[in-house]
Amino acid sequence: MNNFSFHNPTRLHFGQGQIAQIANEIPPSARVLLLYGGGSIKRNGVYDQVIAALAGRTVVEFAGVPANPEFDTLMQAVELGKKGKVDWVLGVGGGSVLDGSKFVAAALALDPEIDPWLIVGNKTPLKSALPIGCVLTLPATGSEANFAAVVTRRETQDKLSFKNPVVFPRFSVLDPSVITTLPPRQLGNGLVDAFVHTTEQYLTFPNEARVQDRLAEGILSTLVEIAPALLKDQSDYAAQANLMWAADQAMYGLVPLGQPLDWATHAIGHELTALYGLDHAQTLAITLPNLLEHTFETKQAKLAQYGRRVWGLSGDDTDVARAAIAATRDFFESVGVSTRLSGYGITDVAAAADGVRAQLIRHKRVALGEHGTLTPDDCHAIIMQAG
Ligand code: NAP
Ligand code: FE
Repeated sequence: MNNFSFHNPTRLHFGQGQIAQIANEIPPSARVLLLYGGGSIKRNGVYDQVIAALAGRTVVEFAGVPANPEFDTLMQAVELGKKGKVDWVLGVGGGSVLDGSKFVAAALALDPEIDPWLIVGNKTPLKSALPIGCVLTLPATGSEANFAAVVTRRETQDKLSFKNPVVFPRFSVLDPSVITTLPPRQLGNGLVDAFVHTTEQYLTFPNEARVQDRLAEGILSTLVEIAPALLKDQSDYAAQANLMWAADQAMYGLVPLGQPLDWATHAIGHELTALYGLDHAQTLAITLPNLLEHTFETKQAKLAQYGRRVWGLSGDDTDVARAAIAATRDFFESVGVSTRLSGYGITDVAAAADGVRAQLIRHKRVALGEHGTLTPDDCHAIIMQAG
């Protein structure tokens, strides 16, 4: 196991009715920039609970943070925040709103001489950010308890991340009952994103981190177990609670400790979203099964462990490893997320593969995977199998 240091400062309030905790977290004198998306929170009662908890504070609202949050839109929120002299940022939504809130909180604290686009891709050091609170409405990304964010610039086809501990949320509210109103497409996306976050940090080699492996296997098995219950009844609270906690723990920071990390599926996926505007999880479902086939030799032993422990498979290593990849693909399909480009109307597979390779080279992402051995040509080959 490699050396590591671990610190996660985000306080989590988990459970029904916990949105009221905002009143204990944000000081009564605060001037709060409230960010949210396209309006789902107004239809499911979350907005009303947030406003009630913010009573007495000055609230400046910014609605309309889009999926795959757009730099230009977020800069409008930054301008509004400056005008309103805000000193807190509260994001209420899925990963897009929470990531956007991290960007806005960092941009509001940035030296005005510096171009905020440099935050994205970690091209400028961040000294501070405004304090951030989150109310999660879509369990998927783990953004509510980590220090990463992904921002998109559509006109240049850039979807890039930044990471900095200054954007760790001060607190996050995880009320599982928000899952009741998720569109089925977003429920499927959440299950797939949480699953792939775990495999990115677990299906690597060598595997000497036994506690981390068992954590990963616990998260993956939980997702597999609860998916059918949620597909049948999205308001099943026990299943909702387990999904929300599994997705959070996938990205909380314990699973990756002391072991090599892959993240190539996310790197390729971000380029597919930049090129085609696909949902984040759709790009992961397209990429992961083919990436596992492509890297079969190096991942075989770990895939066999995964097949036995998560899928209950038996047989020799090679057979179990192959069957585990098939089970992964079937799982994504079973939750309504297609693993094929054709499932999203993309029929020119060669153009997609060429596009992904060109984007990765442009973004200097040329040595991917846990050992830095996956080249843009490998990624091209992976997408060629995704038709
Ligand atoms: P999302 O883009 O935040 O939300 C997708 C859709 O779900 C929106 O249309 C939203 O509607 C709707 N929605 C959310 N909660 C809802 C609810 N409770 N009821 C009804 N509708 C609801 O989806 P996401 O998958 O959570 O986030 C994806 C983004 O996160 C991508 O940009 C991805 O790259 C990024 N990401 C970040 C990390 C990280 O570590 N920071 C990790 C993985 C991915 P409204 O807009 O109307 O609310
Ligand atoms: Fe993700």
